Amino acid sequence: MADFDYDLFVIGAGSGGVRAARMAAGFGARVAVAEDLYLGGTCVNVGCVPKKLYVYAAEFGKGFRDAQGFGWDSGEPVFDWATLRDNKQVEISRLNAIYRNILGGANAQIIDGRARILGPSRVAVDGREFSAGKILVATGGWPYIPEFPGSEYAITSNEVFDLEDFPQRLVVVGGGYIAVEFAGIFNGLGADVTQLYRGPLFLRGFDQDLRQHAAQEIAKSGVDLRFQTQVASLRPGINGLHVTLDNGDTLHADAVLYATGRKPNLAGLGLENVNVRCDDKGYIAVDAHFQTSEPTIYALGDVTGGMELTPVALAEGMAFARREFGGLDARPEYDFVPTAVFCQPNIGTVGFTEEAARAEFGDVEIYKSTFKPMKHTLSGRDERSLMKLIVDRATDRVVGVHMVGPDAGEIMQGIAIALKAGATKAIFDSTIGIHPTAAEEFVTMREPWSGN
Ligand code: FAD
Ligand code: NDP
Repeated sequence: MADFDYDLFVIGAGSGGVRAARMAAGFGARVAVAEDLYLGGTCVNVGCVPKKLYVYAAEFGKGFRDAQGFGWDSGEPVFDWATLRDNKQVEISRLNAIYRNILGGANAQIIDGRARILGPSRVAVDGREFSAGKILVATGGWPYIPEFPGSEYAITSNEVFDLEDFPQRLVVVGGGYIAVEFAGIFNGLGADVTQLYRGPLFLRGFDQDLRQHAAQEIAKSGVDLRFQTQVASLRPGINGLHVTLDNGDTLHADAVLYATGRKPNLAGLGLENVNVRCDDKGYIAVDAHFQTSEPTIYALGDVTGGMELTPVALAEGMAFARREFGGLDARPEYDFVPTAVFCQPNIGTVGFTEEAARAEFGDVEIYKSTFKPMKHTLSGRDERSLMKLIVDRATDRVVGVHMVGPDAGEIMQGIAIALKAGATKAIFDSTIGIHPTAAEEFVTMREPWSGN
């Protein structure tokens, strides 16, 4: 590979690209990484990290009220959007610098600018040309807004973090992770939030009980949830944005957030210069080792349209580097990937939904529990948790676990290890609980759900 400028040229310094670059460099490869916006990619700059900081901010809102039942009186709380937004930016800038140091420390060269592929082994960045033995496309995704009259007035998750003014009236469109999370964030921060979803029940793909329970709790928490509803048009008026719905109703909003999915970020990438095939949804098609139909070009992370999660992109980046530069036969495992939706209360899930488990295993046993979290016996908050186990009756193996409730994301990480290890219901039952916690409910559900 000595004839090339680099052994590996990574396009995109996000979760997957940085991990692949660092590890490949660690195996002795000569590595360059091109990044045109921000080191750390979506997750660090406009995704997981700022989102979770805003979730913490949102949870304080109800926390002040909860505290009164425990004897605290701190007066009427006042929220300042500019403080949150600007403090968030300080933290993100700190992380950007850490990423620059990490890549520099690993001897990967950072090339600032937008990269364009010129050929199977050639890349240009802002007029400079480079050659590489392998090119890795890790360019992630980009928010997608459908076209409709006035769609240019809608914002996406890219803009919502840094709005100049706090949107006191927010309309959120979509029923996936981002829509549900941001409806919860702005509701918690004190905005009037209306969430519109085109289908009968949001969070398509999640367990049906979990979806219903989440809808009930989110509506109770104050989000105006409207299903089977679409935006017909959007226009600026004297009282903010006028949102006309397909049922003829009108809403007035300070901002309209579209969270209607993401598309692979391929703009200007130069794929027309090489033989890289995309699938029917436009994602880069790869084999099990991330190789595209152009043998020197690889792709991983969101741009390949798998599970769009940071830990998945990290696992793929690691597997790619180990195999291509470390001589190891590594592949990520995609079964029992846990995930959380950081709404209020949290959703945490791992494994099969009840519907998918019935289709896969036929005979399944369901264990379910709904209860008021102990904290809310004194806080007075009207919130209930749901916990659900799905067991393959033939093997007794627990194949799905779902939760709506405080800290569901934290709880589900440990449960995912048990499911990966093949834990049976008998093992769950013989595990001693930690008392008093909500999580102990997962090891004390004895009677299968009878359907009542
Ligand atoms: P990215 O992180 O998107 O990185 C791609 C990088 O490539 C970007 O920095 C981009 O600027 C750069 N780039 C693109 N094209 C070029 C080019 N031609 N030249 C140079 N650079 C280029 N996942 C979770 O697991 N947990 C969460 O809580 C979570 N929350 C999220 C919240 C939001 C609002 C969003 C949008 C996403 C969230 N995700 C979350 C998903 C997660 O951010 C992505 O799955 C992850 O970032 C994908 O990593 P990646 O490496 O594929 O791409
Ligand atoms: P999702 O694919 O999760 O959800 C998109 C939503 O928009 C769906 O409800 C979809 O409806 C709806 N939709 C799509 N097109 C239209 C349209 N034309 N008109 C109206 N509604 C439409 O995408 P997100 O943008 O929420 O998030 C992208 C990905 O980022 C997620 O899938 C997830 O992998 C990742 N992410 C992870 C997070 C986490 O781990 N906590 C947090 C945030 C993002 P329908 O269901 O009917 O198709």
